[in-house]
This record gives sequence, C-alpha cells and structure tokens, in this order.
Amino acid sequence: MTSNEKVAVITGGSRGIGRAITLKFAAAGYQLVLNARSALDAELVQAIEDLGVTYLFVQGDITAADTADRLVKETFERYGRLDVLVNNAGITRDKLVMAMSVEDFQAVVDVNLVGTFRVTQVAFKKMLRQRSGCIINLSSVIGQHGNMGQANYAASKAGVIGFTQSVAKEGAMRNVRCNAIAPGMIETEMTAVLKPSVKEAIMTQIPLQRFGQPEEVASAALFLAENDYLTGQVLTVDGGMTI
Ligand code: NAP
Repeated sequence: MTSNEKVAVITGGSRGIGRAITLKFAAAGYQLVLNARSALDAELVQAIEDLGVTYLFVQGDITAADTADRLVKETFERYGRLDVLVNNAGITRDKLVMAMSVEDFQAVVDVNLVGTFRVTQVAFKKMLRQRSGCIINLSSVIGQHGNMGQANYAASKAGVIGFTQSVAKEGAMRNVRCNAIAPGMIETEMTAVLKPSVKEAIMTQIPLQRFGQPEEVASAALFLAENDYLTGQVLTVDGGMTI
C-alpha cells in the first residue's frame, strides 16, 4: 500500500509538534484526520491543500466522552480505514508539589494520559479488526526523569510509556504496533512560556546547545510509522539532554 492510501489521525494536530506532524505526514502522502479543541487556522489548511492530500477536522476535547468515538467514526465514514494514530494532544499546568492542587494534577493526567487511553481504545479496536495499525504516543523526557514543578506532567508522561508498552504487547499478535516519542525541549507555545533564565539553565544541560524544532519530532513520528518491525519503543529526541 502506498502512503497515498494511508490515513493518519493526529490529536492536537493544529499547533506546535502536532502541526509539524500533520505537515510531515501530508508531505509523505497520508490522508489526514485532525483533532483539536479550537479551529484550524487558514494557513495550516492552505499548507495541507498545497501538499495535495485531503483532510477531515474533528473538533473536540479529548477528555470529553464522545470525542474519541466521533474521531474514529468519522475517519471510517470518510476513509474506511485508519493506519496511524498519533496521540499528541497534551498540556502542562506547572507548580511545585507543595502548591499543586488535586485539580492541577488531574487536569494534566486527564488530557495527557486518560485522553491518550480514550482515543487509543476506540482506534485500537478498529486496528485489531483490520490486523494492521500503528499508534504513536507523545511522552517526554520529563516522564523518564521527572522535573521540578512538573510532577503532574511527569506522572502523566511516565504513564504514557507504560501504556505504550502494554498496548504494544496486546497489539503485536494482530500486527498493531505502538511506540512512544520522548522529546526534550522543543520550541513551541508550550515552552514559549518559560522564563528566559529557566531556558538558559535548561540550555546548559543540552549537549547540542539548542532547543529542538517541531519538525525534528515529526521526522521521528514518520520513522516510527514506516518501520514495521518497531514496537514498544520509546524514541528520545532531545539533543542529547538525557545522555
Ligand atoms: P502545544 O504547542 O501547546 O500544542 C498542543 C496541541 O494539542 C494543540 O493543537 C492543542 O489545540 C491540542 N490540545 C491541547 N489540549 C487538548 C485537548 N484536551 N483535546 C484536544 N486537543 C488538545 O504543545 P506542543 O509543545 O506541540 O506539545 C505536543 C505534545 O508533545 C504534547 O503531548 C506535549 O506534552 C509533548 N511534548 C512537548 C515538548 C515540548 O518541549 N514542546 C516536550 C516533550 C513532550 P487546542 O488548544 O486548540 O485544543
């Protein structure tokens, strides 16, 4: 099957890393199903159309009970198949543990981990029946090493790794693969909020001496999608930060 017949669903496909993944998969010829809470901007729509692929936008919050169902249902109504799911939608709500409310903790786990579970579960059923599919989950180096002020985020992203490995084991007999990407510091709106002094401190820990670009994570996602013998892995894309 050529990429032109393949369909990729990308949550949070509108901005940052998800946007770069959208454009990377579009350039590789995948038809797209995108999700986010707010509408896609005209520039992204134009860029997708310029790459000659079709797209469907399913607006909704992945923490809502019906979003995953709508996402997968509309994918099958339009395309009749689902080859790649990228669970990219994610949020931060940083605070030191002593100042963190249960709501701060739950909100982050709800999007990053439970949201990933919700969308995966519905897509996974279809992929198992199809006897093919690839799921890519966005974890983080923070999920592997922790970080001050990010206990909620770290817990959610560590959970994504265990979840990825379990789905890989459950899907393997039916040719459904599941891998994770653990980016380090990537230049998006999520990291734009960091104070310059914090950014400088982080930079001293990155051997390649720069933040990564969203496109560099998107390349890793396409690599995972197109290598049929890879499953249960966590691909770190961090400029050497965790060496
Ligand atoms: P971003 O720029 O803030 O973009 C987040 C995307 O997710 C947006 O498209 C957003 O659109 C969507 N989104 C957020 N909450 C959602 C929800 N509840 N339901 C549906 N869509 C939702 O973030 P990013 O930096 O690109 O990060 C993307 C992923 O990579 C996240 O999982 C993040 O944890 C992970 N990551 C990022 C970094 C980094 O340095 N940037 C490092 C490691 C891992 P709407 O707001 O319109 O919903």
